[in-house]
Amino acid sequence: MTAIPQERRVVTAIPGPKSIELQARRTATVAGGVGSVLPVFTARAGGGIIEDVDGNRLIDFGSGIAVTSVGASAEAVVRRASAQLQDFTHTCFMVTPYEGYVEVCEALAELTPGDHAKKSALFNSGAEAVENAVKIARAHTKRQAVVVFDHGYHGRTNLTMALTAKNMPYKHGFGPFAPEVYRVPVAYGYRWPTGPENCGPEAAAQAIDQITKQIGPENVAAIIIEPVLGEGGFIEPAKGFLPAIVKFANDNGIVFVADEIQSGFCRTGQWFACEDEGVVPDLITTAKGIAGGLPLAAVTGRAEIMDAPHAGGLGGTYGGNPVACAGALGSIETMKEQDLNGRAKRIEEVMKGRLTAMQEKYDVIGDIRGRGAMIAIELVKDPATKEPDAAAAGALAKACHAEGLLVLTCGTYGNVLRFLPPLVIGEDLLNEGLDILEQAFARL
Ligand SMILES: *Cc1c(COP(=O)(O)O)cnc(C)c1O
Repeated sequence: MTAIPQERRVVTAIPGPKSIELQARRTATVAGGVGSVLPVFTARAGGGIIEDVDGNRLIDFGSGIAVTSVGASAEAVVRRASAQLQDFTHTCFMVTPYEGYVEVCEALAELTPGDHAKKSALFNSGAEAVENAVKIARAHTKRQAVVVFDHGYHGRTNLTMALTAKNMPYKHGFGPFAPEVYRVPVAYGYRWPTGPENCGPEAAAQAIDQITKQIGPENVAAIIIEPVLGEGGFIEPAKGFLPAIVKFANDNGIVFVADEIQSGFCRTGQWFACEDEGVVPDLITTAKGIAGGLPLAAVTGRAEIMDAPHAGGLGGTYGGNPVACAGALGSIETMKEQDLNGRAKRIEEVMKGRLTAMQEKYDVIGDIRGRGAMIAIELVKDPATKEPDAAAAGALAKACHAEGLLVLTCGTYGNVLRFLPPLVIGEDLLNEGLDILEQAFARL
């Protein structure tokens, strides 16, 4: 493995000629429904840099959507996964088990909130983990209804499309969706009519009232929420909202599921974002950052809930693949050894400082929010009306891409620029990325 120089370098237009050639082949053969943010073809990646086939080096503020928190070629991930590849690639844990799977479950029991007895089951993708959390909650409660929230995102399979809030691009034309899914308000402070101070308790009261009146708590198997909403726009539920929902779930025998697929594994400066409000979920779903880029997901939770499904009721051919488990153990090793929670907090400090200075100059920045290395700015046409400005988000992203800074957009209104750098990014690269963003604002 050769270390990639941690320096931005733009030597062609972006995308360059080799990427354009590959993109033509891709368009001819890859289904049009699969999009790409930036059609720059990757040659190698690591630390805070993505190097493309034309020799450009982009600063990475995306981490492959919050996946490569330890970098895309972390030493411990490569070492452990390579060793596992030499030994065996697969047996299927449901046929003959192996130690790596058990070790990952032990690590999840140790790292997730709460000191109760915990068990885990491993899967391949975030959506699969969320689906299985629903199966487990239904088996445990013998109830059917599932409650989710405005602006929530939980995946693209049939059940998780039903759980996801946003129509375009996730659901449009793909129905009918799974039944017994109910959506209630979330505490979106920036857009709450009576202001962010009142938002937490008011939104919780509205959500609880709707569940009580429209579903009946005795029919609810699970309440599923992202402790920081990801695709919906990096919305941090206003203070007090999460604890109120957790208390309601506990009082009514409802399984509270924290979907930490995007916010987990040091991304917000904690192992899991719900720790910031002392929330202990019954079940927690993880994926993305767990395995340094290898496909792995998990449901972890109270042993008595996790054990509710009958033997053979959970599983999948590849779930907890040994190479992915080795990657997860390498990723967790890196997070501990390099104190990536500390790094995430430092990234927040640098980013929020710089973004606050930009907000003073550019009032298109309506809101700055997020925690750790999960930071976003919401763009508006006018700070008084808060009318969403998706065009500005698109234009800024495009301007950043042209200069070799990879940024992503998100949000129900498409007007949020989100920053998800690898937690191992150097501070010089981080600041250089923010310089590029600042220049993009100046030219907007
Ligand atoms: C990405 C994501 C998912 C879906 O994960 P996949 O691995 O893409 O299936 C589910 N929930 C949240 C919060 C996510 O960010």
